[in-house]
Amino acid sequence: MRSHYCGLLNEQHVGQEVVLCGWAHRRRDHGGVIFIDLRDREGIAQVVFDPDAEQSFALAETVRSEFVLKITGIVRLRPEGTSNAVMGTGRIEVLGKQLEILNASRTPPFMLDEHAEVGEDIRLRHRYIDLRRPEMADRLRFRSKVSNTIRNYLDENGFLDIETPILTRATPEGARDYLVPSRTHHGQFFALPQSPQLFKQILMVAGMDRYYQIAKCFRDEDLRADRQPEFTQIDIETSFMNEEQIMTITEEMIRQVFRKHLNVEFGTFPRMTFAEAMRRFGSDKPDLRIDMELVDIADLMKDVEFKVFHGPANDPASRVVALRVPEGGRLSRKEIDDYTKFVSIYGAKGLAWIKVNDLAAGIEGLQSPILKFMPEQVVHAVLARLGVQNGDLVFFGADKAKIVNESIGALRLKVGADMGMVKGDWAPLWVVDFPMFEEASDGSLTALHHPFTAPSCSVEEVQADPLKALSRAYDMVLNGTELGGGSIRINQPSMQQSVFKILGIGDEEAKEKFGFLLDALSYGAPPHGGLAFGLDRLIMLMTGASSIREVIAFPKTQSASCPLTDAPGLVSSKQLRELNIQVRQAAGEKSA
Ligand code: ASP
Repeated sequence: MRSHYCGLLNEQHVGQEVVLCGWAHRRRDHGGVIFIDLRDREGIAQVVFDPDAEQSFALAETVRSEFVLKITGIVRLRPEGTSNAVMGTGRIEVLGKQLEILNASRTPPFMLDEHAEVGEDIRLRHRYIDLRRPEMADRLRFRSKVSNTIRNYLDENGFLDIETPILTRATPEGARDYLVPSRTHHGQFFALPQSPQLFKQILMVAGMDRYYQIAKCFRDEDLRADRQPEFTQIDIETSFMNEEQIMTITEEMIRQVFRKHLNVEFGTFPRMTFAEAMRRFGSDKPDLRIDMELVDIADLMKDVEFKVFHGPANDPASRVVALRVPEGGRLSRKEIDDYTKFVSIYGAKGLAWIKVNDLAAGIEGLQSPILKFMPEQVVHAVLARLGVQNGDLVFFGADKAKIVNESIGALRLKVGADMGMVKGDWAPLWVVDFPMFEEASDGSLTALHHPFTAPSCSVEEVQADPLKALSRAYDMVLNGTELGGGSIRINQPSMQQSVFKILGIGDEEAKEKFGFLLDALSYGAPPHGGLAFGLDRLIMLMTGASSIREVIAFPKTQSASCPLTDAPGLVSSKQLRELNIQVRQAAGEKSA
């Protein structure tokens, strides 16, 4: 129908007759002429109808916002002094000759440039309108282009794009499963994949050597900011490559993506061990753009009587840290109180601080509610270790290590952002040498990555001291966000069985849940490993979007529903009967 996209017209088309198809973005009547801004996927062109074209002019008067139009006209330069530098097509306009209304539109629930004033729920309910916004269309286009670069890169490097099932068995990635009842197997359920993990490993046993898939994954997690119940991974697995080779090949993929689409050159990514990341930043995904670090001071606090510090300083499971905030002296009491509230979200019981007004004046030059509890020489030793300067502020964290890491790690990010300390645009790195297991509050062990991750030591060593064992896992981190993660996998059934045992999965359960994997491992499983990148997060970071919902065409809300289709929904009792399912009714609820 169309000869050109509206948004791609420019001076080179002057004098040409064009046929445009799109939506009426805006209509303005101006002293006898009608302007219609016609919009399509590529942008907006201004079309002018003057009363000479009588029929079209009369029709143009009836056009309303979001009507679908087909317009034939001649491209011309805009009159002197009326060009619009903000618009891509701002130097030209189209003199409308013929107008056809292809479809009318009800008054839209919001005008495209007023989207910010409506709630996200309205935007998601009318997503077809929200996605007409050039900003949204740009992000989807960008996403498509990046996926394409990734596919090409992987294809050029010998990876095969192989689909894996959506109706399957549980794949443990640490979340709850979405279950699908089976009609043909009474009382049985499929699980939607939390990731294609086991299938990609089995593809390696099958000799596929290099696999990738841009795969949908499903995780039924409780409300957590910026998670989606279904999301997209760039899922990768290889055989006969070690962690070094896997990191090299995938790092180059990310480098290419940034080079090609943002014109950013990354260079080689630094590596940091998990232990160092936790010690210096309280996080296994440190944002290296912020130049502030947690500094351990437990050794200096051991004999301080003040119990806030004394207890944790003498408990191996705790940490006492200080965080020097350069120029933090300008923070007001109210701001410090707000930070105290902020760290309490992470379980911190308080937030001690010292303002450094004048170092030369000794203790007199400091300001803090805790000075009276601390021997002077300890205060000086702490400040010397931190290398403080006049005008700085020091925050303290003292508690169980987990609480200190989480609270002061988060405080570091928040203060860094609030005080404009985020330097540079991009800080990628690899975090390596993760522990195999972590201890849950009930003392049981869980896998830090997933139960198929290979340890970097022998079966005997893992069994002897599981919490000491490190894994052959690696995470790629960008600006404080985990962009991807993976590992070398266990390829020996005996090692896999030992790890299951450590995780409290007995032989029977292992056989029932993962018998197919153990079988596969026993039929010549090559050494293999891989990783997965979160595509939504990658695109969010690259486009500077505020949430992953802004880079997904049809995202779910924070409460895991879809306002557009109203999913999830009730089903008929007939369907439930076929599935042998009876829904327990909450009091006061009506049946479907
Ligand atoms: N399956 C893992 C995940 O989804 C990634 C990997 O280990 O390859 O996090």
